[in-house]
Amino acid sequence: MSKFAEPMTRLIDELKKLPGIGSKTAQRLAFHILRSSDDDAEALAGAVRDVKANLRLCSVCNNITDVDPCVYCTNPTRNQKLVCVVAITCCTDRFPLCTEWDRNNCESEIF
Ligand SMILES: [Zn+2]
Repeated sequence: MSKFAEPMTRLIDELKKLPGIGSKTAQRLAFHILRSSDDDAEALAGAVRDVKANLRLCSVCNNITDVDPCVYCTNPTRNQKLVCVVAITCCTDRFPLCTEWDRNNCESEIF
């Protein structure tokens, strides 16, 4: 028998599936969600649903996007012959800010 009510146990079990989240952290997050306002809890649930419903891979470059082709592939100033390979997809949002290759700022994320 779990020491928590079934809905709390279910939330903890789902949170434990996230990378880097163990039992204690999952419990802390679950209690945080339980104490949060209905609006904040619904915003979190909605954000999770929205990510799953509206994000896909760009058909041109495989970037995670909500529009296909993605903003990078539809940018008319983009050099279509230049390929930038990143190790972590979440880093691609930094590239529009770069005006030129800056190895000192990017080398930990770029291979
Ligand atoms: Zn793309």
